[in-house]
Amino acid sequence: MEAARGTAGDTAAPTAVVVGGGISGLLAARELARAGVRTTVLEASGAWGGCVGSHVVAGLTLDSGAESFATRSSAVADLAAELELAGKIVAPRPGGAWVQLPDGPRELPRTGVLGIPANPWDPEVRRSLGLLGSLRASLDKLLPASLGTRDEAVSVSALVRARMGRRVLDRLVAPVVGGVHSADPDVLDIDMVAPGLRAGIRDHGSLAAAVGAQRRGAPAGGGPVPGAPSPALQKAGSAVAGLRGGMHTLIPALLAELRRQGVTLLGGTRADTVERTAGGWRVTAGGTAYDAGLLVVAVEGPAAIELLSGALPELAGHRPEPGPDVSLVTLVVDLPQLDARPRGTGVLVAPQSPGIQAKALTHATAKWEWLAEQTGPGTHVVRLSYGRGDTRHGAAVRPEPRTDTELFEAALKDASALLSVPVTAGDVVDWDVVRWGGALPFASLGHKRRVAEVRSICAADGTLAIVGGWLSGNGLAAIVADTPHQVRTLLP
Ligand SMILES: Cc1cc2nc3c(=O)[nH]c(=O)nc-3n(C[C@H](O)[C@H](O)[C@H](O)COP(=O)(O)OP(=O)(O)OC[C@H]3O[C@@H](n4cnc5c(N)ncnc54)[C@H](O)[C@@H]3O)c2cc1C
Repeated sequence: MEAARGTAGDTAAPTAVVVGGGISGLLAARELARAGVRTTVLEASGAWGGCVGSHVVAGLTLDSGAESFATRSSAVADLAAELELAGKIVAPRPGGAWVQLPDGPRELPRTGVLGIPANPWDPEVRRSLGLLGSLRASLDKLLPASLGTRDEAVSVSALVRARMGRRVLDRLVAPVVGGVHSADPDVLDIDMVAPGLRAGIRDHGSLAAAVGAQRRGAPAGGGPVPGAPSPALQKAGSAVAGLRGGMHTLIPALLAELRRQGVTLLGGTRADTVERTAGGWRVTAGGTAYDAGLLVVAVEGPAAIELLSGALPELAGHRPEPGPDVSLVTLVVDLPQLDARPRGTGVLVAPQSPGIQAKALTHATAKWEWLAEQTGPGTHVVRLSYGRGDTRHGAAVRPEPRTDTELFEAALKDASALLSVPVTAGDVVDWDVVRWGGALPFASLGHKRRVAEVRSICAADGTLAIVGGWLSGNGLAAIVADTPHQVRTLLP
């Protein structure tokens, strides 16, 4: 083994190793470096940013993973501003998304959280649910606030079905949950994917009112709104925003700041083991030891537990299930019929929709003005995602396309059906497949308690923090808000 680097006690400055160079690891390093901690980041792959990645298709640099952020708080917008990217924040084009139901496409109501409507009688909601569905959903207002809020853990399905009925679940929530989390709402913990919603029911009396309050940026419990959406984004009325040039542009900006702060960034360096030492922690990667007083583990859930279980055997029973394997097919097509944006910014697919294997389609050039300006009229970027990872409705037994050729063929077929415009191989200028194996965390029922237990074990001696989407809740807004907070617990 090579000599230990970054040994605690080399200088007066405290030292830290961060394992994982996704957004959570980079943000952790930023927080440590700002506090004067000499920090080294180890990233297994050759690329920084993890799921906030990029790829080049038809000469366009596109997001290969995350492409927007939730504006329910100002966390990501504030970060962008600190990185001098505030001027690049953009709202998606108005028009909204659609949902593909077994009986055809409908516009997705725009006033929901996770597809749960703030008003069951909103005309868009009423169109998706039908009269009976809206009637049942409006019963929510008459039900006691304790329904769905008393149990320690509740799945997305159980809460929505109990308060608003099955049609809201099947026609609005399941497509959104499948598209965003690649998960079955039957097994997904509501507190992880819609934090604060159950508290909102207690405060505002109904699920619809809790959704309405979240959309307005009002926290459960009333009072001032920490990190409320910026007025500009609120005005745009959108629940998400993006960055001109793509979300991946956050990463080089973050890396530039880390380099200025003197952080050591070691790509292509997979941490193999973690052990305790007299001075703190030793991380071994490819035969080299990295010693430091502080350790931050910022990798996917199963990998994090595996890495730490040697040093903290009590963690072994807390391994989360691996996330689903998601494959994204990006098509760049010359197809002027798509200039009319036939399905707004894209389509979420209800699991029961016959003949369609994709779980979601994003019409990126319809969603982002900056991208449409780059491609020019007639040329379009369409991204389809595969890998629902759910078990309800027999979806898991439905064969999934796996090879690049199968995925390309499925993408042409699904894009044609979802956009109602034939998309053929002859229209395709270029295409690419990106696979995210297990990268989306799987917040199964009871996950919130698991997170609390994991964090309490790790926090015991004040030198270890554990961060990332599997703990904070999937998505950039949750991670950006949570990571600095976790890291600060290590600092004096
Ligand atoms: C396809 C896709 C689309 C998404 N779209 C959105 C979106 O539009 N909006 C949104 O808000 N969120 C989106 N998300 C979710 C969001 O991207 C993630 O929640 C977030 O990027 C996760 O960040 P992280 O740092 O927790 O983990 P990751 O990004 O998974 O980073 C973990 C890093 O650790 C590294 N690593 C793993 N093991 C080791 C090891 N042993 N040693 C060293 N390094 C290691 C990995 O290589 C990786 O770089 C999307 C996710 C996916 C997969």
